[in-house]
Amino acid sequence: MVDVVIVGSVALDSVQTPFGKVEDVLGGAATYSSFSASFFSRPGVVAVVGKDFPEKHLDLLKGAGVDVSGIKVDGLSFRWKGFYEYDMNEAKTLSTELGSFQTFRPVLPDNFRKSRYVFLANIDPEIQLDVLGQVENPRLTMMDTMNFWIGNKREKLLKVISKVNILLLNDSEARQLFDTPNLVVAAGKALKLGPRYVIIKKGEHGALMFSGNSHFNAPGYPVEVIRDPTGSGDSFAGALIGYLAATDDISEPNIRKAMIYGSVVASFNAEDFSLERLKTLSRNDIEERYKEFEKIRRF
Ligand code: AMP
Repeated sequence: MVDVVIVGSVALDSVQTPFGKVEDVLGGAATYSSFSASFFSRPGVVAVVGKDFPEKHLDLLKGAGVDVSGIKVDGLSFRWKGFYEYDMNEAKTLSTELGSFQTFRPVLPDNFRKSRYVFLANIDPEIQLDVLGQVENPRLTMMDTMNFWIGNKREKLLKVISKVNILLLNDSEARQLFDTPNLVVAAGKALKLGPRYVIIKKGEHGALMFSGNSHFNAPGYPVEVIRDPTGSGDSFAGALIGYLAATDDISEPNIRKAMIYGSVVASFNAEDFSLERLKTLSRNDIEERYKEFEKIRRF
């Protein structure tokens, strides 16, 4: 059985930042989040890739202990092109090609259906709903999304939000979805839809967590070399849910710890393009930076 079911894009990305440019490299929300979750537990990915998708990318996930039996091969791969300006907190999309995701109807392998943790990473909200419906009795469900789906599938997206325990969003997406410049107001509106927690990611500056009666913020790690932040939000989410699944403790103090693990893995991810940094990362590196976070937070 897998510990965490993750659905989301598995993609070929072309990205430009002030520090370099790459074309058709491994990317996608489910890729980053499952790889990051694999440092803590055993994730299983539900997605579709095209016949043009290099086999070596799936081998990389497998090598990290990700169960890829829920990844179908059909038609064309999801491709995303984007760039970042000097302020690298917000990705600007140049093009999104959904490829086979446009017609993808997920069917979960049997060993995914009993998973107790589910992460609906960034993808069409109809696919997110479909996956959620196939997991029998999840203990914790979490979702992410982005401006593309807020703009194109708002109603379906609101439906998914009403069904999950934790909603993750970027700050700009929270403002867009809840039509307010104020993140506290946006979080309040999000909580009214149903989730128990709302976590608003603020790029290199960390993340804010709101529940009905509490508030926490996880700082970003002061990384000196940020070459490409693509996938850091997904890495944050993957590490967070991977840690929760490994400890099987969904109390608020443990969610706070999980957010720090999320910030740690996200900060490493931004140090290089694609999964280059995550590939060489060890659990020991993660623990060392986690300890530094404890020092940063103390006053
Ligand atoms: P982030 O963690 O927000 O930087 O996520 C970046 C990843 O999201 C990239 O690797 C893209 O392939 C993927 N992506 C971009 N647009 C979409 C979309 N509309 N739906 C799903 N995934 C996307």
